[in-house]
Amino acid sequence: MKEALFYEKLDNNKVKCKLCPHNCIIKEGNLGICRVRENNDGTLYTINYNKLTSYNIDPIEKKPLYHYYPGSNIFSIGSFGCNLKCSFCQNHSIAHEKPRSRDVTSEELVNLVSLKNETIGLCYTYNEPSIWYEYVLDCAKRGKKMGLKNVLVTNGYIKEKPLEMLLDYIDALNIDLKSFSENYYNDICSGDLESVLNTINLANKKAIVEISTLLIEDLNTSKEEIKRLAEWIASIDEDIPLHLNRYYPAYKMKLPPTSIEKINEARDLAKKYLNYVYIGNVMGVDNDTYCPNCNTKIVSRDSSFKVINIKDNKCENCGKEINIKY
Ligand code: SF4
Repeated sequence: MKEALFYEKLDNNKVKCKLCPHNCIIKEGNLGICRVRENNDGTLYTINYNKLTSYNIDPIEKKPLYHYYPGSNIFSIGSFGCNLKCSFCQNHSIAHEKPRSRDVTSEELVNLVSLKNETIGLCYTYNEPSIWYEYVLDCAKRGKKMGLKNVLVTNGYIKEKPLEMLLDYIDALNIDLKSFSENYYNDICSGDLESVLNTINLANKKAIVEISTLLIEDLNTSKEEIKRLAEWIASIDEDIPLHLNRYYPAYKMKLPPTSIEKINEARDLAKKYLNYVYIGNVMGVDNDTYCPNCNTKIVSRDSSFKVINIKDNKCENCGKEINIKY
């Protein structure tokens, strides 16, 4: 166990955790909502520090990140715990249970990844990495020194101060924007929309950001909601890529999979406001990248994942600035 970074000691051996917007007040011997921060004799500890439950070398497109080193691989790791309670959680066995883990220090991990030339760096993913904060921060600092990239795949439910500190070492993020409805966040995820919007806004000032929305038919797929979501992203930056992912039944949610028609409808609507909208979890869709100005194909995502028709960050055909790092 390692002492947590963001908390305050209160009377009667209680502590207040200040890592995420839940602001849990935790009595001695108890855990916070995320189940990975424990009050031990009036000190808050993180119980998943150094604990890995999953690791794999994944294509960067799987995160998904489509505008960050297309075609590269990244060493992906996860621990356990989550600070949201989404009833459709795709990773509930590590997010809401305590599976077997293996102890790996940040030094061991970074040394291992540095030796593997086939990856661009480290991706903190699978369960929620923001509540693995101290370990992620240590790995990201060490990784950066060794020339590794650091990528965060997160629900964005973190407070401003810890986020700012972590962003100094993070190169790119995929942030879930689960819906554009406060009720949805409250009822289905036990969180709040405003905090996530704030994270997206801050992260986009310091790193490359892509956004993922899991579309669940009739819950977050109304035209009005998709329009508001896309309009809001565009108000920050119309070049932020949006991934609209198809929902399949998982964990406690038993609704049928979202229809392809709904996914296509949402994609067409979002494209009126955003330059890059992609579909996920659907076989056979065209997820190549096209220049938003002249429609020339600029990245091909067939089996070879070629970056084509971009020179000096501009479309080779029309000269439009393209926000793809490669
Ligand atoms: S990180 Fe965990 S303990 Fe801290 S406020 Fe969030 S849910 Fe509570």
